[in-house]
Amino acid sequence: MLAYLLHIILNVGTEICAMPSTSASNKQPERAPRRTLMACEFCRGRKLKCDGNRPSCANCRRRQIACTYKPVNANK
Ligand SMILES: [Zn+2]
Ligand SMILES: [Zn+2]
Repeated sequence: MLAYLLHIILNVGTEICAMPSTSASNKQPERAPRRTLMACEFCRGRKLKCDGNRPSCANCRRRQIACTYKPVNANK
């Protein structure tokens, strides 16, 4: 009987001691890889800073012109 109790106590003890320390992987939270901001045709041509908004970026919207983006089919 005593051995049984001792067994329980020991088991509990080890359980507490063996609490999983979740701080093993202390790496920084992964950020979504930021896509390279694509400049629209207009901004690219004028070398303007394109905010990459769709369907129309700020520059194009201000000028009320068609904002077009080249398809992202660049050869990888
Ligand atoms: Zn633009
Ligand atoms: Zn644009």
